[in-house]
Formats: sequence, structure tokens, C-alpha cells
Amino acid sequence: MTNKNSPHALHPDTLAVRMAVERSQYGENSEALYLTSGYVQPSAEVSARRFAGEEDGYTYTRSGNPTVSSFEMRLAALEGAEAALATATGMSAILLMLFSLLKSGDHVVYSQSMFGSTIKLIGTEFARFGVESTVVAQTDLAAWQAAIRPNTKILFAETPTNPLTEVCDIAALADMAHNAGALLAVDNCFATPILQRPLSLGADIVMHSGTKYLDGQGRVMAGALCASAQMINEKLLPVLRNGGMVLSPFNAWVVLKGMETLGIRMRAQSASALALAQWLEQQPQVARVFYPGLTSHPQHALSMQQMSGLGGAVLSFDLKAGTPQDARMRAFHVLDSLQTLSLCTNLGDTKTLLTHPASTSHGKLSEDQRQAAGIGQGLVRMAVGLEHHDDMKADLLRGLDTLK
Ligand SMILES: *Cc1c(COP(=O)(O)O)cnc(C)c1O
Repeated sequence: MTNKNSPHALHPDTLAVRMAVERSQYGENSEALYLTSGYVQPSAEVSARRFAGEEDGYTYTRSGNPTVSSFEMRLAALEGAEAALATATGMSAILLMLFSLLKSGDHVVYSQSMFGSTIKLIGTEFARFGVESTVVAQTDLAAWQAAIRPNTKILFAETPTNPLTEVCDIAALADMAHNAGALLAVDNCFATPILQRPLSLGADIVMHSGTKYLDGQGRVMAGALCASAQMINEKLLPVLRNGGMVLSPFNAWVVLKGMETLGIRMRAQSASALALAQWLEQQPQVARVFYPGLTSHPQHALSMQQMSGLGGAVLSFDLKAGTPQDARMRAFHVLDSLQTLSLCTNLGDTKTLLTHPASTSHGKLSEDQRQAAGIGQGLVRMAVGLEHHDDMKADLLRGLDTLK
């Protein structure tokens, strides 16, 4: 699709508001929502050329939709990618990537700290089809290197991770992948292109859950992959069209509008998360706070350099406790005492959301996998939203101050 808003001429903040397909003949200022499954063809001849891929034009929404195109163009512009492809959810973006690029006998290296469903998808579901994989410690570059085999096709990293906010060196992993003839894919959900653009650091594919910060208001599910036009058109698009895990135009429109405020949200929520992380570090009931913006974070310097000087909006804290049972009881007490903030799976919302990873996002992992990921029973994750700082602190203190 053509557009006068060239990604090369404008700043990211401008592209986040302006990048979209051309206006319709009605001149709508806010991007139109094209809720249609099919498209009337101007002639049988044109229809034939469109189906043959010889001419641009929409035919059927599983193959393309203008609202979905607008979302893809806007995200690609923000990530500095040649192209993007929207999917129904973040997980279906990962499914599409693995399904399009791997075959039986290929090998993937990924971190043990990745999103729980990602670990299950690669380690269990793809294993059924003969795809081999090795999990490594997120921040141990030597372990990533040692895991590479002649049949390694993809290194897959997520940074920062959920919920411990571990950060890995994207540029170093990109070099490592390319030296081995493999690709580096990066899950950029937590940082978003506002903080970090993995393609500019050498990554080959960026994956998003649009459900998170791109929507930003916790309304719809969405996902996307960003890559070179060649990879999108030759490898990913044919599988998406046949596999059908496409993004609904309605959800695309919601996320498209959400992205208009991505920059101001990420900057405000990161600032608020940093202040809360520093405050939590001072609380006597808290053993440890995990947040890349803290100087106590093991990869603080790398994070600040890789993430535009911001730490993102997700932090976690571990409560002081004796046994795992005691730790779980304490975490549940803090969560059950909340009156303003939400006990809610999800993140990337304007509303602050807290979770207990050990019994939710990481609940389906085996005890060994959970131990390896470092997710204790006393860990609480906080995805910081836009409420007033004092109200967030007061709500946390309700539980912290009454711990027995
Ligand atoms: C939520 C999330 C996903 C999965 O996205 P869905 O939209 O829920 O399918 C993948 N990776 C990370 C880091 C996430 O936070």
C-alpha cells in the first residue's frame, strides 16, 4: 500500500499517529474500520490478476484487509522494519514464525525465562513434529553459544523477560546467530519500539503481543511479526493466509488507535515504575525488587543502553518469607488486600495489574522448569499503569503493612 507518510522522513512519534493506508474518498480523519470479509472486484480480469498475485488489491479478509494493513504499516514504521504481519494473538505470531521457518530436524535455542506459553509451544508442541530445542540461561551468552548446533535455525530471545525482567544483549545474540547461519528472533512485548528496536541491533524478526502495550488499554488480543519484506512475503505471508491466524479488523483498529499514545504511555509508565521500584526496595517486607531501571539490577548498564535509558513498566518483587508455603500466603495476602489496583493476568494496561506468577503464568510449568526460571512463591509481578503514584503505594501498603 502506498502512503505519503514515508517512514524515513518522519519521527516515530509522528508515525505512531499518522502511518496508515490512504484515506477513503470520504476523507475521514480518524482511520476507517473496514469490517468486511470480502471485497467487490471491479472486473473478472482484475480479480484474476489479484488472485494470481500480479496486482495489489483486496480479495478476502483472510488474505488482507485495509484496517489490518494500517496496523501493520504503523508497527513496521515504529520498529524500523520493511514490513509487518498481524496475527490474532501474540502466541499465534510465534506459532506462525516457527511453523513458517522450521521443519522436522531443525533446532531452536531459547531462554528458560521466556513467556510460559512460548516454552510450552517450542519445548512440547513443536517437539511432537521433530523440532529440537535447547533452553539456556537468559543472560549467559556462553550458554547460548554452547547450545548452537549445525541444525540450529533460530535463536529466540525475549528481553526484558516476564516476570524477572532479565535483559539479554540483542546485538551480541544477533552476531552469534548470524555466525552460525541462524536467525535471531526477539519478543519485544515488554520494551516496545519506543524503548528498543531489535532490528536496528541486528535481530532478523521482531515479535509482538499487541494485546499488551500496543493496545495499551487491555481491550483486545493481537499479535505481529516484523521482518524484511522478503521474509514476510516469501516465508510468513503464505503460511498466514493458509493457516488463517489473522487479526480481526476490529481488533486491528483498536490497536491502531492505541498505538497513537504508545510513546507517552511508555514514558509515563516507565517513570512511574522506576519510582515504585525504588520505593519498594525500601520496604522492610520486601526481600528483592527486579526492575532494569534499578542500579541493583544485574544488567542495569546494558538495559539503559539498549532500552533508551528507560526500564519499562513491569517490575517484580519478592517478599521476605520462610518456607515456600509461607511465601505463597504472604503474596496472596498482598494481592487480596488490593482495593484500587487489579489482581489480573495481562500487562501493558493503563490500569496497574498485579499477578502471582508461580500460580498463574508459570503455573503450568513443572517445578523444575519454575525453579530454573527463578519464580518463587513469594514473587509478585506488577505491571504499572497510569494511576497516581500515592494511590498505588497506599494500595500496596494495605497488604504489606498487615503481613504477620
Ligand atoms: C502476552 C505475551 C505473549 C503472548 O501474547 P498473547 O497476545 O497473549 O498471545 C508473548 N510474549 C510475552 C512477553 C507476553 O507478555
